[in-house]
Amino acid sequence: MATTHPTTTDLRHDVVEQLAELLERDYRADLGELAQRYPGDQQHLTIDWSDLYRYSPAIADDYLQQPELMDAHLQAAIPEIDLPFGVALDDVEIRMVGLGDAECYQPLDALREAPDGYLGITGELSKVSTPTRLLEYGVFECLRCGVTTGKEQHVGGREPPAECQGCDRSGPFELLDKHENTVFEHYCKVRIETPPDETGDLQQEYMDGFVRGDLVWAGHDEYGLVARSGEAVTAYGTLEYRARGTKGEESRQYDPYLDLQAIEFSGDQQEVDIEAYRDEFEALATREDAVDVFAESIAPELYATPEWDAALELLVAYLFGAPRIDIQDGPTYRGDIHALIVSDYGMGKSMVNSAVALFSPKCIKESVTGMSSDVALLAAAVEDDFGGGGWTLEPGILVRANGGHVILDEIDKTDVNLERMNNALEGEQVVDINKAGQSATYKSRVGLLATGNPQDSRFNRHEPISEQLDIDQSLLSRFDGIVTMADEPDTEQDAKVAETQGESYIEAFEYQFGDREELDTLERTVDVDVGRNWVACARQECHPIPQLEQVHRIRDWYSEEVRQLNEQFSSGEAADMPAPASARVVPATIRFAVAFARVHLRDEVADADVERAMQLSKTLVGQNFDGEQFVPQESRRSPQTQQERAEALQSVLVEADDALTVEELAEETGIDEGKVEHRIEEWSRKGEVYEPQVGGGYRWS
Ligand SMILES: [Zn+2]
Repeated sequence: MATTHPTTTDLRHDVVEQLAELLERDYRADLGELAQRYPGDQQHLTIDWSDLYRYSPAIADDYLQQPELMDAHLQAAIPEIDLPFGVALDDVEIRMVGLGDAECYQPLDALREAPDGYLGITGELSKVSTPTRLLEYGVFECLRCGVTTGKEQHVGGREPPAECQGCDRSGPFELLDKHENTVFEHYCKVRIETPPDETGDLQQEYMDGFVRGDLVWAGHDEYGLVARSGEAVTAYGTLEYRARGTKGEESRQYDPYLDLQAIEFSGDQQEVDIEAYRDEFEALATREDAVDVFAESIAPELYATPEWDAALELLVAYLFGAPRIDIQDGPTYRGDIHALIVSDYGMGKSMVNSAVALFSPKCIKESVTGMSSDVALLAAAVEDDFGGGGWTLEPGILVRANGGHVILDEIDKTDVNLERMNNALEGEQVVDINKAGQSATYKSRVGLLATGNPQDSRFNRHEPISEQLDIDQSLLSRFDGIVTMADEPDTEQDAKVAETQGESYIEAFEYQFGDREELDTLERTVDVDVGRNWVACARQECHPIPQLEQVHRIRDWYSEEVRQLNEQFSSGEAADMPAPASARVVPATIRFAVAFARVHLRDEVADADVERAMQLSKTLVGQNFDGEQFVPQESRRSPQTQQERAEALQSVLVEADDALTVEELAEETGIDEGKVEHRIEEWSRKGEVYEPQVGGGYRWS
C-alpha cells in the first residue's frame, strides 16, 4: 500500500476543519448573534485562547507563533458553520483574548525580553489619541499621463507608487482619496503603562501601540477606547519595531510598539443576557414582596437596621429607575434616580456599594478621593503627548456611564467642586466641554449613588444632621433620597449586627474550606446574575404609566403630610431631617413609584407601587427611623444674625425652580417678611436678584 505525504493544502484543510469544529461547539451562539449584527453593528468575533487550548494545545500554540495565518484559517472556518440567517460572514475580524499568564507581559518585561509572536501587554490604558482615518491602500493618479496606480501603505509616511503603470515614470502622483479603491481605516494610538504605584516612580514603564479598524471603537458603544482611558487592560497583538527620530532621518534606535489585535478590560462585568434568565426573574417579579426580596438580596451579610432597610429599598428604586421623558421642544423629565448615603465609619457602605454595582447592567464605581478636579467626572481635554501636538477629549465617568449607573465613594474626601456635576445630573443631563479649540456635548444620563462620611467623620448627635453634610445645597437638592446613619450604641441592635456578621463569616468560611454546600444567611433569593438581567430587562422593556388619580393622591399626601414635616421640624416636634421637604419630593416620589412598578415588570403603575413610594419618601424626608425624636439645640430657631438670614435666603433662591414671592421666602426660611423684603431690595439694587417679566416674585440671577 502506497503512503502519501500530506500536502500543504491538505494540512491547511485539516486545520480549517478542526477550527470549524471548535467554533461549532463553543461559538455557535456568538456567531448567531454576529450574523444578526453583521456587518453594520459588529464585524468581529472575540475568541478566548483558552478555548483553543482546551480543544487542541497544538493549535493554540500555532496561534501564538503565527497569528496572522491562524486568523486567516479562522476566517475560512467561519463560513463552514451553518447559521440560520444566511448572512455571508466572509470578512470577520478575529479578536483573540484570554492568553495565559506566561504569554502576558508588563511593558518593561516585554521590552527586555522582546518576545516573538502573539502576546498580551498588561497595565493601565493611560492614553488614547483621538481617532483619525489612516490611509491603508491608495489609488494614485499620474500627473504626466493620467493613468492610476494602486499602492499598499505601510507604517511611516504616505508612499506613492515607485513607477506609473502607464508611462513607467516616477510621477509626480496625486492621491485620489475619493476613489472607490482607496481604503481608509480608523486609527488611534494608545499607551499602556504600569501604574506608578507599582513602579515606585523610579522609571516610566509603558508601551505604545496602535489600533486600526473596528477595534478603535471597542470597549464603549459610543466613544470607543477613548472612553476607557485610565482603566486596567490587557492589550493583545504582536510587537513591531520602529526607528526613532524625525522623518527622513535614519536612526539606529528602534522602539517597540504593539500592533493591537484585541483588548480586554479587567473591570468589565459579565454581559447581560436577558433571555437566559427571563424565566427566573419573571417568576420573582410576580411575587407581592418582589421589592423586599430584591432589597434583601443586595447584601445578605448586612444586618438591616431601619436605616439600611430604607437605604436598600431606595437602592432598588435607584437600580430600576424610571424612563426619561424627553418631548421635542417640550418638557423633559429625568428618569434616573439619585441617592445619597452619609454615615459614620464601618456601617457597611463599601460592602453595599460593591454589591449594588454587581446588580447594575452598566456601572462605573469610583472613589472621589484622589481626584484633583472635576474633569475625571465630566470630561477633559488633555494634551496628546504622542508628539503630534494634538488634544484629545476624554469623556469622564458620568459620560462613560451614560444609560447606566455611577457610584461615587467618599465624596466628602475631595477638593473637587462637586456642584460642577449639577447640570450633568438634572434637566438635559449633558456635559458641555469647550477647551483648547475642541468642543463637544456629551450625554450623562446616569443614576448617581454617592456615599460619604459626615463633616467631622462622625455625626455629632448634638447638632442637626443638615449642618453636618458637607455638600452644597444645590447638589443636595438633586438627590431623590438621602439616608443618614449615625453609629449610636443600641444594645439590642448592636447584638444583632454582630451576630449577622459572625454567622456570615463562619458560613463563608465553611463554604470555602469546609464541607458546607448550601448557603443560609448569605443565600440570595435574587441571585446577582438574575438580578442584573431583571434590572436590564425592566429598564429596556418597561415604561409603566402612572394614573392621574395616583398623581392627585401624591399631591394631597405632599401638601397634607410631608410639607407639615418642615413645620414640625422647625418647631422641634419631629425627628431630624437631612434637608427640608421641598416640592422636589413630588417628582422623586413619582419616580420611585414607576421604579417599583418596573420591579414587577408592570405596564401600569399600581396603587401599591404609589403607596410604597410615598412611604419611602416620607421616611427619607423625615429620617424618623427609630421613632425617637431628636431636638438639636441650634436648629429649632430661625436664622438670627444678618449673615445667617442672607445665607438662608440665598440658598432658597438659588435652589428654587421658579421665582419666589416675599411671602413664600418668609415661609420657607422662617424669617420675618419685613426682613426678607429689606434684603431683597438690597439685592435687587446690586443685581443679585431680578423679577421675571411674567408671574412675579424674585429669582437669583
Ligand atoms: Zn504616467
